[in-house]
Amino acid sequence: MVTTRFAPSPTGRLHVGNIRTALHNWMLARKNGGRFLLRIDDTDAERSREDYVDAIRADLAWLGLEPDGEERQSQRLALYEAAFENLRDAGRVYPAYETAQELELKRKIQLGRGLPPIYDRAALALTDEDRAAKDAEGIAPHWRFRLDHDEPIRWEDGVRGPQKFDPAQLSDPVIRRADGSWLYMLPSAVDDIDMGVTHVLRGEDHVSNTAVQIQMFTALHAAQETAAEPHPDFAHEALLVGREGKLSKRLGSLGCDAFRERDIEPEALVALLARLGTSMPVEPIAEREKLVESFDLSTFGRAPAKFDDAELERVNTAIVHQLPFEHVAGRLPDGMGEDGWLAVRPNLETVAQAGEYWAIVTGPIAPAELEAEDRAYVGEAAQALEWGEDPWQALTTRLKDSTGRKGKALFLPLRLALTGRASGPDMGAILPLIGEDAARERLAAAAG
Ligand code: GLU
Repeated sequence: MVTTRFAPSPTGRLHVGNIRTALHNWMLARKNGGRFLLRIDDTDAERSREDYVDAIRADLAWLGLEPDGEERQSQRLALYEAAFENLRDAGRVYPAYETAQELELKRKIQLGRGLPPIYDRAALALTDEDRAAKDAEGIAPHWRFRLDHDEPIRWEDGVRGPQKFDPAQLSDPVIRRADGSWLYMLPSAVDDIDMGVTHVLRGEDHVSNTAVQIQMFTALHAAQETAAEPHPDFAHEALLVGREGKLSKRLGSLGCDAFRERDIEPEALVALLARLGTSMPVEPIAEREKLVESFDLSTFGRAPAKFDDAELERVNTAIVHQLPFEHVAGRLPDGMGEDGWLAVRPNLETVAQAGEYWAIVTGPIAPAELEAEDRAYVGEAAQALEWGEDPWQALTTRLKDSTGRKGKALFLPLRLALTGRASGPDMGAILPLIGEDAARERLAAAAG
């Protein structure tokens, strides 16, 4: 069964970049009838916060991306400990004692000599006595994963195609700090195995992590003597950038709250992010099934995906025009029923604007300022008004015959008198909602 996961660290709110990653993992799972899991990467006890965990869940719920299961790394430490011991016994992790300053100095020297700043594996050369001496001094080691340099690391990336890394060009990653706490790399690989993750879809900033983790998967399987798949399928999507083409700070802090405040519908955000950076056009598709149906990793491009607020607003408007009454009922002004919603919906950019248009029905409306001739005309309209099936059609047909007016001259003074505005919802739909008495009063008032 296809199993994907979204693995945010609860050190902040979700932003548009990781919302997109979550969405694509959700779609990949749904498309294949699989599972979409939420994994809270909270091994960093100092920076992780419970309110962010709650916010992540709430944001996913708002987006309609509810997970089929949830795991928290802070509750899985025993699993990492066991994996670590296996790898240590197999000689795949080793203790190192360099301080941050020493490592920094090594890097500077390498860079000064024009060499890549790869860890020199000095700690691998330590003897048992050297290590005992460090321990006696009370210096606790941090731990590195020993990469196997024998063969290039290869995988077929779902977005980037065939990938090849020379492990000798990578540093043996630090997987555990001297205080025993975990860095991201190993727990993630342990969890992907344990949670049965079949597809890892994430940003291209993780490509070199994947090279390292592929060796971890192999080493973990070897240590446990499991006959499972060697590693999940990997796909790395191009990053999201602002319209200017730069990785903007603004995008990094643009989250669901900001969209909600701007009355952006989750469906709009989802429709945009589903297609951004793919060869498929961005379309205002409100039905999830349709989006899921069209999801296809092979359409993902390698160029950065450009996020444009104006495009989001256009998609949002087009989505609002499709939303059924039941979907928005709880957010509409008091008394506004399905007729009201359908009457104003085509004029809205956001659902929140429904209130503004609903005031046309409930009043009071702005007094119409009409020329004498138009005042006489709306006075005539007040007389001509007859309430039936389609009062607007009946009224304008009558007035057309009796006054010879047409087009703007026929309609605009009536609209101004009846709604207080020069533009707005279709009069045929809104007049029955205004009602006979109010319509008569408003025409009479505008006639002066
Ligand atoms: N917590 C990691 C991150 O947010 C997860 C990366 C992954 O998907 O493996 O970058």
